[in-house]
Amino acid sequence: DSDYFNKLCPGYFLIGSCENGHRFSKEIYCGREWCPTCGAKWSAAHQRKFSRWLPKVLQMKQLGYFVIEWPLASRFQLRSKTALEDAGKMIKQVLSGEWEIERRRDRGERISRQRKEDIRAWWFPEGLRRWHFFGDLVKELGEGMKGLAWVDNASESSSGGRGDRYNPHVNVLVSYGFITRGKFRRIKRALRAALQEPDLIVHYGYTREPARMVHALKYITRATFLDWMWAPDVAASIYNFHNAQVWGKWDGEPVWSLDNLEGD
Ligand SMILES: [Zn+2]
Ligand SMILES: [Zn+2]
Repeated sequence: DSDYFNKLCPGYFLIGSCENGHRFSKEIYCGREWCPTCGAKWSAAHQRKFSRWLPKVLQMKQLGYFVIEWPLASRFQLRSKTALEDAGKMIKQVLSGEWEIERRRDRGERISRQRKEDIRAWWFPEGLRRWHFFGDLVKELGEGMKGLAWVDNASESSSGGRGDRYNPHVNVLVSYGFITRGKFRRIKRALRAALQEPDLIVHYGYTREPARMVHALKYITRATFLDWMWAPDVAASIYNFHNAQVWGKWDGEPVWSLDNLEGD
């Protein structure tokens, strides 16, 4: 479909007409990241993504934010939809605790229901994850996300990177705050083993301030693939790609509201 790269947006969808012949139509946004309309900061498409996740973030007393990034030499492996989907699912498996449970079973361990619950509770029973395709992490963490308290200082990320250089990274939001060094090390080890990437780069930051949570949510839901010509092969491959994944139960009450931001 030649429209895939350059499509008129918004398009219009006819929803009906009245007896006088007036026609009613609804605006349809394509949602592609490189669309000049949808890819814009705080566009209708951006706001829709933000609103879809907001009710979940409102249930968080603290917001923890993982950024998982591949070393320069391995990024070529993530240029297809399948590779991105597989890596995204694996990250969810690890962070939800399911990977540890599976691994223990593979080793012949018997896992009781209680043990399973304990393992899940050590990890992150609820989470949200989304890919960014571009972005210099030194800049993202140091400027865009500087409001969070970061467990590391992005020292492992390749700095001076151009914004238009392919740098797929997964953003994960969890309901968690400070992480000890020991716990962080264990998480990193598991992710590296599961993704078979010994040099995988993992960042973690957190906040308990609503204004910063809102900023993080806006930041993570924004578009980064702003021009398909930055990586035409990837753009062609990710047709119908489900970028976001949510796991766990989100049936809690909101613990803060957007009203908390007044005067901010
Ligand atoms: Zn669009
Ligand atoms: Zn990013």
